[in-house]
Amino acid sequence: IRWRSTSLSPGDGVRITMESALTARDRVGVQDFVLLENHTSEAAFIENLRKRFKENLIYTYIGSVLVSVNPYKDLEIYTKNHMERYRGINFYEVSPHIYAVSDNSYRSMRTERRDQCILISGESGAGKTEASKKILQYYAVTCPASDQVETVKDRLLQSNPVLEAFGNAKTLRNDNSSRFGKYMDIQFDFKGAPVGGHILNYLLEKSRVVHQNHGERNFHIFYQLIEGGEEDLLRRLGLERNPQQYQYLVKGNCPKVSSINDRSDWKVVRKALSVIGFSEDEVEELLNIIASVLHLGNIQYGGEDSGNAYITTDTQIKYLARLLGVDGLVLKEALTHKKIIAKGEELKSPLNLEQASSARDALSKAVYGRTFTWLVNKINVSLAYKNASVIGLLDIYGFEVFQHNSFEQFCINYCNEKLQQLFIELTLKSEQDEYEAEGITWEPVQYFNNKIICDLVEEKFKGIISILDEECLRPGDASDITFLEKLENTVGGHAHLTTHKLTDGKTRKVMGREEFRLLHYAGEVNYNVNGFLDKNNDLLFRNLKEVMCMSDNKILTQCFDRAELKDSRRPETAATQFKTSLAKLMEILMSKEPSYVRCIKPNDAKQAGRFDEVLIRHQVKYLGLMENLRVRRAGFAYRRHYETFLQRYKSLCPETWPSWQGKLADGVSTLVKHLGYKPEEYKLGRSKIFIRFPKTLFATEDALETR
Ligand code: ADP
Ligand code: MG
Repeated sequence: IRWRSTSLSPGDGVRITMESALTARDRVGVQDFVLLENHTSEAAFIENLRKRFKENLIYTYIGSVLVSVNPYKDLEIYTKNHMERYRGINFYEVSPHIYAVSDNSYRSMRTERRDQCILISGESGAGKTEASKKILQYYAVTCPASDQVETVKDRLLQSNPVLEAFGNAKTLRNDNSSRFGKYMDIQFDFKGAPVGGHILNYLLEKSRVVHQNHGERNFHIFYQLIEGGEEDLLRRLGLERNPQQYQYLVKGNCPKVSSINDRSDWKVVRKALSVIGFSEDEVEELLNIIASVLHLGNIQYGGEDSGNAYITTDTQIKYLARLLGVDGLVLKEALTHKKIIAKGEELKSPLNLEQASSARDALSKAVYGRTFTWLVNKINVSLAYKNASVIGLLDIYGFEVFQHNSFEQFCINYCNEKLQQLFIELTLKSEQDEYEAEGITWEPVQYFNNKIICDLVEEKFKGIISILDEECLRPGDASDITFLEKLENTVGGHAHLTTHKLTDGKTRKVMGREEFRLLHYAGEVNYNVNGFLDKNNDLLFRNLKEVMCMSDNKILTQCFDRAELKDSRRPETAATQFKTSLAKLMEILMSKEPSYVRCIKPNDAKQAGRFDEVLIRHQVKYLGLMENLRVRRAGFAYRRHYETFLQRYKSLCPETWPSWQGKLADGVSTLVKHLGYKPEEYKLGRSKIFIRFPKTLFATEDALETR
């Protein structure tokens, strides 16, 4: 009988033979934290994670939330057999798995006709992107298909290697770190077959194109092209087969990564591009751009006596002119001068060395960033479908705290505040909705509402982003430091913001002069304001834009539009654009039914089998897992449809065995009374039984085992 072999307490794959259920539980922990005896203890929580991790049981639930610990090794749990096992199964009847979450969302979408989303969070290297790929693979394999659907499935799957080539890089934390946020809708037709998709991308880390920290790399595609590109291709692009030759690739002093094979990845990406539907011409234009960025990086400047910069590397200009289809002289001029329009007249002023290099880098970043957006749009066109049910996958950067935190971390952590808010709202709300629907009374739980931090960042006029924008717009002496001063003056007294200055005019010793500190829901982070204004402005000199508009590269003509030149309004700042796109994302997510995957990174060494408790405790804290558990436990730890409950436990009561003839609710009532449930231990709703304490259910489970 099925339910006898799928015991609730031990994880799947652990066979109970001579052992009692209890000792198995001692060894492999509980598969749902809700079942922990000591649910308020963080130590017990972590101990449970550790036990399971040791047994290669990387997945554990908190109710319906899946907690996943990166195993850093390939486990035999993603086979087709496993996929089949989770198809159409009841969530709690098999061991926790990413496939169970995938299947659950899919079935809710099908049966309730409600759009779903799966939100994957966790810090860099915790396994978010791998999880999203597993979900996509699950749908590709298990969903119904037709011939036409096969191409869409392929395209959906192949969009990953392409986006990863252009948007991922080796960082200190992750050899394949996504440097952009991604939300992807998978679209299903009325038969439940995947028929299309749509991707939204967020804030690509463009600064990586021109600079990498020690031990890190530029985006994978550069190395793939150089290592894997065919001889004539490289010749045509004017590239040498040696990453060390390129200024943009040597900053991190890390051209090779042992876990990455650039040459074979190149083949994968080339194939993926054609599966998605890129023409040979488009691929050629795309590679021209990638090569151009490398040539741009190798442009060097000399300084005249006057201080004005001039270009000393003509070969690069020659290649750039050819690859981008622009006039070399015009480009050279644009890389050394700035054009401003004053009183309707065009004025040209020469740049000094520093200005010229930063103009060059700004161009490289703009070209790469816009090409990336073009790439995403192009993939979207190839996946386009209308009138579909949707499962959205969110794989977005987790909370980041470094030694040195800058504008990028500020944006990323702000994004996490928003997601945390959504998480709190939706978890509490859905919990409340269910009690209401079932006619059960309950006590709302106290929780920290981080709206106050979101407001501090995004509020009109006096939020941090507004203040930053104001400084970016202000002509004259605006600088990173005046921004900080304005912060002190405007929101200095805020409970979640600290600066160097104290209200009594003295200064704080613990903080640098250039820093402000935000007390995030996940902890304190010091941000160094250095570069905030430049990064937020994200400006590209007008004459460089003009040159790009003249390019006969068809991708660039789509990326740089002449209309942009005529538009005299200031472009939106990076932070404001990000804020707007996040608001839209929240709307999208709010309209769907969410499931959560919370990813945890077990150690910083990217090693299998190592469980670093300090590191894990920190993540448990800022992912809000204890809070999550508390919310889940404050209501009812367990709920089951009457039918499922009766089916599973009917053998424990002579009146319900072998089958109950009357109303299901009465059967359950008879059963639990026979089992000795006390009135405060459970409630009977319209279609489900709600059990308050896990130990109640445990006892019943044990009764099954020892009967
Ligand atoms: P994130 O997207 O959260 O930054 P990734 O998903 O890129 O992290 O995972 C980082 C690395 O960890 C992967 O390249 C892979 O080597 C390993 N990894 C992650 N999840 C798994 C898994 N479920 N099984 C095996 N290895 C994994
Ligand atoms: Mg990732």
